[in-house]
Amino acid sequence: MDDAVTFDACYACGGTEAERKVGVNHMRICTRCGMGRIPGDPMMHAYWTQEDPAETLNEVYWQARRQMFRRALHHLEQAGGPGKVLDLGGGAGHFAEIALELGWDAYSSDLSHHAVSHAARRLGAERSLCSTDAPEMLGTFDAVTLWCVVAHVADPVALLQEAGRLLKPGGRILITSPNFLFQNVYARVLARIGRPLDFRDHDHLLNFTPKSLELIASKAGLSDLSFRYFGVTEECLMNRSLGSLLVPLKKAWNMVGVRTTMLGLPPMGAELHMIATRR
Ligand SMILES: [Zn+2]
Repeated sequence: MDDAVTFDACYACGGTEAERKVGVNHMRICTRCGMGRIPGDPMMHAYWTQEDPAETLNEVYWQARRQMFRRALHHLEQAGGPGKVLDLGGGAGHFAEIALELGWDAYSSDLSHHAVSHAARRLGAERSLCSTDAPEMLGTFDAVTLWCVVAHVADPVALLQEAGRLLKPGGRILITSPNFLFQNVYARVLARIGRPLDFRDHDHLLNFTPKSLELIASKAGLSDLSFRYFGVTEECLMNRSLGSLLVPLKKAWNMVGVRTTMLGLPPMGAELHMIATRR
């Protein structure tokens, strides 16, 4: 295992990639910034055709998600109170729905027409967008959020540049992604105990480390980068019996994991929650 066979340059930092086996996953991992990816075709089909997830997932999971969304919105609020927010890649509009409840002028956009129609039922058609290309939208948002979106696209720098153009100067952006510093170890441990974690199930093209996420945000012209912790979203929440055991453990790990930044270490939690500002 871990024979170094080098491939292309890393998308985030230009460093050299090496072939690695991470549990059951055959990956290419940057030897400089640690970003990982699985070569081959992305399997986005399941996402683009899925039904509204609120109809199939359990209440424990959605309660935790709603709580996390509220925490993030309170953090994004500026001195003037709730402003105008866009959830890019907003799926069925769950985040924008919470934002509306908290007094934000909230919009959701998604490339999937299934998602857009679910969000329209939730938010009203005028707040559920299938495109953010309209020139009159540029520079109008106080906040743009990307919940687990950057890992799914081929060119996340271009996506973050688009998000930046939609923000007012000084506007804030929230970016979340699984933390590959954590997932890399977690997948190896799970494989050892016979519960393999197959990253292809998550359709993530790029598996970011804190360093690689910072690099792409900087390349996109964002500044004042910082890592925060807003809550747990892991899928263990969807399994009630297992969730009751794992959730407190994961919450504790994630809360400690982000506090490692105070010691000058990278965040070690299962997910990265990054806040940045448009210059
Ligand atoms: Zn790299």
